[in-house]
Amino acid sequence: IDNFGMMTEKYRPYEQIRIVKGKAGNPERQNATLISLVRNKELYLMLGSIQQLESRFNKDYNYDWVFLNDEPFTEKFIELTSAMVSGTARYGIIPYEHWSYPDYVDAKKAKDIRTSRKWQSITYGSSESYRHMCRYNSMFFYKHPIMDDYQYYWRVEPEVDFFCDIMYDPFRFMVDNKKDYGFTLTLTEIAKTIETLWSTSEQYFQREDIKSQLPSGEDSLLNFMSDDNGTTYNLCHYWTNFEIANLDFYRSEIYENYVNHLDHAGGFFYERWGDAPVHTIAVSKMMRKDQVHLFLDISYKHTVAGSCPLDDSLYKKAHCICDPEHDWSITSESSCNLQFLEVAGQPKLQDALKYEA
Ligand code: GDP
Ligand code: MN
Repeated sequence: IDNFGMMTEKYRPYEQIRIVKGKAGNPERQNATLISLVRNKELYLMLGSIQQLESRFNKDYNYDWVFLNDEPFTEKFIELTSAMVSGTARYGIIPYEHWSYPDYVDAKKAKDIRTSRKWQSITYGSSESYRHMCRYNSMFFYKHPIMDDYQYYWRVEPEVDFFCDIMYDPFRFMVDNKKDYGFTLTLTEIAKTIETLWSTSEQYFQREDIKSQLPSGEDSLLNFMSDDNGTTYNLCHYWTNFEIANLDFYRSEIYENYVNHLDHAGGFFYERWGDAPVHTIAVSKMMRKDQVHLFLDISYKHTVAGSCPLDDSLYKKAHCICDPEHDWSITSESSCNLQFLEVAGQPKLQDALKYEA
């Protein structure tokens, strides 16, 4: 299918523009896909991510790989990425209404804010596209019709590394263990980008009809994201550039109403709300702790942060190449991984204490 011809400013074709068939795949595959939101100019960084995840994992499974973009992919992008993935590659364009201002947000006000002094010194503070991207990853990626075909996704960005073989199918793990959200790293958010996110979220979650649906007490992950029993957000967030999750969660009414509430408040544009704190607050409010999993045995790195498995026997079996002595997730002040493990009651890997000491 090639409907580039139909592109106009206000209209973008909704369906995928191209399917490149790959291997039929391992019959043990789950109903799942890899997914990358990516720009054409990131082609070579994307190839690096694909090559590593294919050789460390997907060559044995051939899961589909969905590529999404707010612009048409170039022929070269399609040619080189589809040659690198083992499964079927699908390319989709994001519809205009998912990457533009809703009528209840004042685009002029948003521009005045992001070009003001305050935002110049904040990472991506003056970027308009970054805000569309964060909003897209918060409330639209799962609504792309390509995604209707799947129940689980694994998000993969350009410029990531996988330092060990992945010794099992994480999608299968999610299904078998009834996990709905999985991650590898956590970070603390820049406070200035989300000044009103917690209070806006609380307006929603404190509603009696919503609150009654949320896990509480021992089941709750509240203490992962708040150090004062919910009064304030401690800025800890699952680092969403890696996430493996159940799409049904995002398709639920309670999630949909949450992100619509956020969107009407305008903070994706008037502040710079990231999809990471949004996913984190949603997941940690709505899921029981046993539904959320930290993949300690998947070694992952993206730009500033990375992890290495703290298990010497796994390290050898999985042909790792990272340095466990400098595992960012346990050495960095900005990591919340240990706090997660404690709150969730998830056990550490067998040699963790040796490396933490
Ligand atoms: P960071 O990880 O917070 O530094 O943000 P990135 O620049 O890595 O963006 C996050 C993800 O969104 C990456 O997969 C990018 O390729 C993608 N992305 C960011 N901005 C855009 C954009 O304007 N268009 C498209 N198509 N993808 C984008
Ligand atoms: Mn990134």
